[in-house]
Amino acid sequence: MLHVNENYSKIKPTYLFAEIAHRVAAHQAAHPEAKVIRLGIGDVTEPLAPSVVAALHRAVDDEADRSRFHGYGPEQGYAFLREKIAEVDFRARGVEVSADEILVSDGAKCDCGNFQELFAGDVRIAVGDPVYPVYVDTNVMAGRSDIRLLPCTAANGFVPGPEGCDADIVYLCYPNNPTGAVATKAQLQAWVDWANERKALIIFDAAYEAFIRTPGIPHSIYECAGARTCAVEIRSFSKTAGFTGIRCGYTVVPDGLSAYAADGRPVELRGMWTRRQTTKFNGASYLTQRAAEAVCSPEGQAETRATVDFYLGNAAIMKEALRGLGYAVTGGDDSPYLWVDVKGDSWAFFDRLLAEANVVTTPGAGFGAAGEGYIRISAFNSRENVLEAVSRLKKVL
Ligand code: PLP
Repeated sequence: MLHVNENYSKIKPTYLFAEIAHRVAAHQAAHPEAKVIRLGIGDVTEPLAPSVVAALHRAVDDEADRSRFHGYGPEQGYAFLREKIAEVDFRARGVEVSADEILVSDGAKCDCGNFQELFAGDVRIAVGDPVYPVYVDTNVMAGRSDIRLLPCTAANGFVPGPEGCDADIVYLCYPNNPTGAVATKAQLQAWVDWANERKALIIFDAAYEAFIRTPGIPHSIYECAGARTCAVEIRSFSKTAGFTGIRCGYTVVPDGLSAYAADGRPVELRGMWTRRQTTKFNGASYLTQRAAEAVCSPEGQAETRATVDFYLGNAAIMKEALRGLGYAVTGGDDSPYLWVDVKGDSWAFFDRLLAEANVVTTPGAGFGAAGEGYIRISAFNSRENVLEAVSRLKKVL
């Protein structure tokens, strides 16, 4: 008899977005005339930047020409892209990361989900609560059960510290999904010191790095002293440059960063990750990588920054309106997400906004127990929809 991986029965059903879709469909069926505005989704809405579109066209022409055609590329990514990433995302900010330390992928989700494969089954995992579910589910699928939750609450500013955290791997995500909170340098440094002291690993998810505008907030974990010996950093072009459909991300695995074999021997993680990727992944497409290279050009940087500013403008409009209505709101300054304290049941608040304002949000309870009492509002939308949603919220709240 063929047995299934029983760990799959231990992951929580992905009912959050299915349940939202179900409730929205029922509402829409009952009110076919209602113009529903979706502030729940984490997908971008603006098109690709002109310089990225031009690079994609050129890359298609390369693929159409025998002398410029590219088939399989290096699994770790083309040097032309890795060099630019090292320059633009790190060296330009005074952070030393070399092209060799960057492994390009088809998005941050895969890297967030797959990196845990390098570690033993009994390692202890720590994650925030509420949390981007990928960190938890992929560890449960792999058979890990020791997953410790770090409550992210108003009391700690939604940034838990390492005090009392007994784990081997911690997943940190700043700017955070879903709370929109950012960590200061001192807060990240405390985690780095914690990890170095106990030979633990930080998996730092910086998918929303491009939204940081507040001076002094670190864009990379490597701005902290000692992070190269205890942290990998995962980045994505999805929210930075509207690549949710194009698909490109990368993971930085510093030279010398190691975990330990059963006999105590250090084993370098970059070698293991490279082996994992070259075995299971055949590289992001040539087209994708040329598009990502264009994001790193001066024009691409200016264009994509303007789009991120546009989303931040949406966030500012909604944040001001909700605060004016008396709600405590976190996020939105350095993040596309607002985390709104609704002072009550998050599904009930979701239902109320849907029924009375035809506005879809995401109930915080769907991201973990500590998310109860909050909703997440996304700034990925047109200005027209944001203004309309705000005027509806002002009427019903
Ligand atoms: N990490 C976080 C925190 C996210 O919110 C997301 C997507 O929403 C991702 C990673 C995935 O990004 P990608 O589109 O690169 O797979």
